[in-house]
Amino acid sequence: MKRLMIVVPCYNEEEVFPSSAEQLIAVIKDLIKKEKISGDSGILFVNDGSRDRTWELISEAYKSSKYVYGLNLAGNVGHQNALLAGLNTVKDICDISVSIDADLQDDIGVIEEMVDKYYAGADIVYGVRSERGTDSFFKRTTAQTFYKFMAAMGVRSVYNHADFRLMSARAMKALSRYKERNLFLRGIVPEIGYKTDCVYYARKPRMAGESKYPLKKMLSFAWDGITSFSIKPITIVAVFGAIIIFCSVIAFIYTLISHFLGHTVPGWSSLMISIWFLGGVQLFSLGIVGQYVGKTYIESKERPRYNIEEFLDHGKD
Ligand code: UDP
Ligand code: MG
Repeated sequence: MKRLMIVVPCYNEEEVFPSSAEQLIAVIKDLIKKEKISGDSGILFVNDGSRDRTWELISEAYKSSKYVYGLNLAGNVGHQNALLAGLNTVKDICDISVSIDADLQDDIGVIEEMVDKYYAGADIVYGVRSERGTDSFFKRTTAQTFYKFMAAMGVRSVYNHADFRLMSARAMKALSRYKERNLFLRGIVPEIGYKTDCVYYARKPRMAGESKYPLKKMLSFAWDGITSFSIKPITIVAVFGAIIIFCSVIAFIYTLISHFLGHTVPGWSSLMISIWFLGGVQLFSLGIVGQYVGKTYIESKERPRYNIEEFLDHGKD
């Protein structure tokens, strides 16, 4: 029988933690009873430098339940890095991991189906949202625009899949060999290449607390996702430049012809507009190129993506 670890990144989640822990423990117990996973399976809560009582709650839960494990990160490193820290920690001690957000907006009822698909031969099983009726209109449209935009920009990601997924030990080991700092798991996981499968579920509203992904974070997440996976924006800038050069050649020919026909060139406003316009285009293009140069700079430092403060592991006590 295979050992399952559920990995849950938590940032300021004291409001949802007690009920999430309880529900996840119930899932683990149920799967153990059905003999689908081994008795030493559990849940790893990764505390991503929370400023509230999240870590205290995790430590208490660790003491009172043999299914609860805790990983305390030294400082806030963001959802993606926290999740990676969790996966890297469990990859050597378990056979299967399931990652899920602490607010349990994703349906824990399909974890069993994910495990079944793992036994059927899949190394990676994506949880895919079949509907987002309970998200606010704003969240739904921004998120969906995001997935479509990513696809248009050439990033290979699974539509309507967040970070709710099952991974086998070898998939996690493969993942740990991707060293980039600009981490966008949804884009990297499909690159691994092992056999994948999907389960479908309806996304629920957040039980308590508020979203840790305000618009600003979502935009920077999208920007990171695109610039870490595709150089299409630079291509677009180049194509745009070429079109403008072509237009200016046409304009030049037109001016020459009107000169020979005796027309005078009217006013300087058109001139000013084009100078401003081209200046703007140049600055914008420079900015995009600069983003990539900046990323290269950040990657070249090869700094660690997270540091571990403490690991509460039942395997060691
Ligand atoms: N999270 C984290 N570090 C952060 C921000 C968020 O570990 O800096 C966790 C958070 O606790 C939750 C998950 O990432 O488990 C997703 O966050 P949230 O539910 O707020 O995002 P949303 O569902 O609104 O996109
Ligand atoms: Mg959420």
